[in-house]
Amino acid sequence: MRAEILTIGDELCRGEIVDTNSSYLAARLWDLGITTRWMTSCNDDASDIAAALRQATARADVVICSGGLGPTEDDLTVDVTAELAGVPVAIDEPARAKMEAFFTARGDARGQALAEIQLRQVRVPAGSRVHGNPLGLAPCFELPIGGIPVICLPGFPREISGIWDHSLGRRLAELREAGGGSPERIARRIYRAFGRGESQLSQACRGLLADDDRGASIHYQVKFPEVLVKLVVRDRAQDAADARLAALDADLRERCGPVLYGDGEETLVERVMRRLLAAQATVATAESCTGGMIGEMLTRMPGSSAAFQGGAIVYSNAEKVRQLGVAEATLAAHGAVSEPTVIEMANGARARFATRLAVSVSGVAGPDGGTPEKPVGTVWLALATPDRTHTRKLSWPGTRDQIRTIAAWWALSMIDAALPSDAARDQARAAWVLP
Ligand code: ATP
Ligand code: MG
Repeated sequence: MRAEILTIGDELCRGEIVDTNSSYLAARLWDLGITTRWMTSCNDDASDIAAALRQATARADVVICSGGLGPTEDDLTVDVTAELAGVPVAIDEPARAKMEAFFTARGDARGQALAEIQLRQVRVPAGSRVHGNPLGLAPCFELPIGGIPVICLPGFPREISGIWDHSLGRRLAELREAGGGSPERIARRIYRAFGRGESQLSQACRGLLADDDRGASIHYQVKFPEVLVKLVVRDRAQDAADARLAALDADLRERCGPVLYGDGEETLVERVMRRLLAAQATVATAESCTGGMIGEMLTRMPGSSAAFQGGAIVYSNAEKVRQLGVAEATLAAHGAVSEPTVIEMANGARARFATRLAVSVSGVAGPDGGTPEKPVGTVWLALATPDRTHTRKLSWPGTRDQIRTIAAWWALSMIDAALPSDAARDQARAAWVLP
């Protein structure tokens, strides 16, 4: 089954907003085994929208549009699709009732007599199949144009995902079946790797799949600083696809070893915070070259206050001494970017913030400031725990941004490795991160 996504809006074509609707919809379609063959964007212009729809319905088996369902004069999707389908425009009564209730609840006089402009938003081409919109007012609708189903969605990403979860996902699965399209079932898993690059991972996975394997594929996506490894299995029966995925899963984990920190949607920082909270462990940070990034990442998660106590941004040597009690002699003898300094930073933060764990970072983020002994990209990290203080040295020449990001991710990895787990996989990674 071939899908086309058409996103409509002047702001898209002026580069003012990024077209995340296309990527969202393509990913959801891919989950269903529907391949998006084309993605098109056009302006809020009736003849351009009509031309794009004619082209899409001539080459695709299903077309999904977003945008242009609002109440204003530049919202043209309803009129254009109705005209192409040769039907009049009608008010969708359930959507009108919902809008009335919405305005009445707000104490708005329009609850009684909706202004014409507002009514524009609840119009649909007559005879369309209406899918509704649980998080908004403009209803999603579907109508055939040239015999091809065209599904029109509002522009707001949040509303689109609401509609997808509520009904559209099911509807597309139904269309896929009806199209007699691919009878294939898909099983897939995303693995998340941090600490080794894409080339090393693909090297490790060489031979996992036979060259002529048509049923399974592996994809690598660099999402700096992590790498996503995606394993996809296709089969006629879901059971068979699941079983094959399980077998490949074991082999892939064996090959990638401790570089994988997780799988699925959970990111490293989400994992760290979940595990900190589960272990009822507290943590503090002592940051030099990352300038607060680690604290920022940890506080992104709701509920982080139960685990993250605070941090010190100690950029200068004087602040390392003043805030964390690093000895002047240590700095004089070894420099700010050194193992003894990060140990004292981590121990100082752990004592001052009275936490179970404390992580510290000091490095040369560049582009200046490198020396032959400590080139740009040299970063020292330490993790203080109740038993001992672990250290790690990075030598990763990159841009300033990349060096800081990698350092913050290693710091999170070190915290993660210090948290207890019964899983052999977690233990293997922990032993690798904190040797
Ligand atoms: P309304 O006119 O009521 O605002 P609409 O259904 O006509 O809604 P648009 O005006 O096209 O939709 O878009 C509404 C908002 O949704 C835009 O201002 C933009 O923030 C966001 N949006 C629209 N299209 C996209 C897209 N392709 N990707 C990401 N965001 C988008
Ligand atoms: Mg609009």
